[in-house]
Amino acid sequence: MYDIVIIGGGPAGLTAALYAKRAGRSALLLEGGVLGGQAATTPEIENWPGTQRISGGDFAMNLYQQSTALGAEIRFEAATGLEKVSDGWRVRTAAGGYETRAVILANGVRRRKLGVPGEEQLAGRGVSVCATCDGGFFKGKEVAVVGGGSAALEDALYLASLCPRVWLIHRRDRFRGETHLVRAVESIPNIIPVMDTWVEEVRGAERVESLLLDGKAGARELTVSAVFTAVGLIPDNGAFAPPLELDEQGYVRADEGCRTNLPGVFAAGDTRAKPLRQLVTAAADGAMAAFQAGNFLNLRDS
Ligand SMILES: Cc1cc2nc3c(=O)[nH]c(=O)nc-3n(C[C@H](O)[C@H](O)[C@H](O)COP(=O)(O)OP(=O)(O)OC[C@H]3O[C@@H](n4cnc5c(N)ncnc54)[C@H](O)[C@@H]3O)c2cc1C
Repeated sequence: MYDIVIIGGGPAGLTAALYAKRAGRSALLLEGGVLGGQAATTPEIENWPGTQRISGGDFAMNLYQQSTALGAEIRFEAATGLEKVSDGWRVRTAAGGYETRAVILANGVRRRKLGVPGEEQLAGRGVSVCATCDGGFFKGKEVAVVGGGSAALEDALYLASLCPRVWLIHRRDRFRGETHLVRAVESIPNIIPVMDTWVEEVRGAERVESLLLDGKAGARELTVSAVFTAVGLIPDNGAFAPPLELDEQGYVRADEGCRTNLPGVFAAGDTRAKPLRQLVTAAADGAMAAFQAGNFLNLRDS
């Protein structure tokens, strides 16, 4: 039985592993996708305190090396549920599962889909949620980005260095991303904002060929080779609730000590209901959750 099982290997989970190991706890981290989480797909990070600029890939690699150097055990398995056992919890996985005295949920969020015809069928064939992962395949081609937040603006900026024209489609009349990103987008001539407009359909036989758009200016078809969607994030906590308590949007309810409604179960990072979802708050949550999990185990043992 482990002291702590951490679900998710993004910045919150890796930081939790780091703190758990430094506190002398046995810790297993389960990662069901890509280690580093959303951070691994970020082209450039400029707001990690003490570091002027670092790529998301390097940031994730540093965190991974730091936590494994201290002895954190990492397995590439997705957690599929949580069940109470006499001495703690069983974290279920497809291969069976792991018993642990405490759990830290650090499973982050996943990308929202457009939910239009053609999106599923052409996924991986021109429809992508990750510009930094797939942008290189469309070098020299015209592409579109859908969304108006910081992630969409970052995607457009990244693609503008590879593609002759980047259409930035947003359903509102103003971008809601960070001001410095809005300014940067507006200063790049090959990014063409298409405001008050939404995607009705992704079209193409084998690969993306065009987008059917609609909006204030009316319907039109836009010829592009790829569409990168960045239309928001959604929590993915259904497998753990109930008994885990979630808010109306599906984020885990936890206090400032990252304690959930379940004894010995903590929530850290973007999966937790909170006002600011960033690297610095994810890492802070990871540290706090590991600290409180340690306190919980100390009390149990006393
Ligand atoms: C494009 C983009 C750019 C960004 N840029 C910045 C920036 O410049 N500065 C900044 O501060 N923040 C930025 N952010 C936000 C930041 O990346 C997130 O706030 C942060 O990564 C959250 O960390 P997390 O560990 O809570 O979750 P995540 O990074 O989402 O990691 C969660 C991990 O859990 C795994 N997982 C999920 N479910 C399971 C399961 N059932 N079992 C096992 N593993 C599971 C996932 O595969 C993932 O690896 C950006 C985000 C995006 C998408």
